[in-house]
Amino acid sequence: MKCPYCSAPDTKVLDSRNLDEGCVIRRRRKCETCQKRFTTFETIELSMPMVIKRDGRRENFKKEKIKFGIEKACEKRPISAVQIDRIINNIEKAVLDISDKEIKSHDIGNLVMMYLRHLDPVAYIRFAAVYRKFQDVEEFVNELKHDEYNQFKISPTPTDKDGSREY
Ligand SMILES: [Zn+2]
Repeated sequence: MKCPYCSAPDTKVLDSRNLDEGCVIRRRRKCETCQKRFTTFETIELSMPMVIKRDGRRENFKKEKIKFGIEKACEKRPISAVQIDRIINNIEKAVLDISDKEIKSHDIGNLVMMYLRHLDPVAYIRFAAVYRKFQDVEEFVNELKHDEYNQFKISPTPTDKDGSREY
């Protein structure tokens, strides 16, 4: 791995650690040229199916889009970033169970709703209310960028402070 500071082509691994039950490897590295240290994360890249949009066009599966939609739905809810990452991993696995070739964007939206419903009722209602109108994750995300959620002012309920609802 090249040094991000001085671009030296080789850096030394000081320490490797398994995270997330072995799904992520974190490496602490040191550049022997400039002596600076940095961290890299190695994760598994699954080969995801193509997404068939409502108008029949196909596009690559974009995890970031799903993440953005879920994060918006979970705003101000007692849900941690770790819980959101976990739900996204579960959605990815569920997508792969359906197909590794192609999947309808509509089916992805339904999966997101299914997982959100178990995670948090308010996040689920927010997502479902906006999503059902669009039936397409991309349209949905575009709409979110225009503050669609402003019309869904649902105040957070008093939280159970540990916020560790399981799903
Ligand atoms: Zn360096």
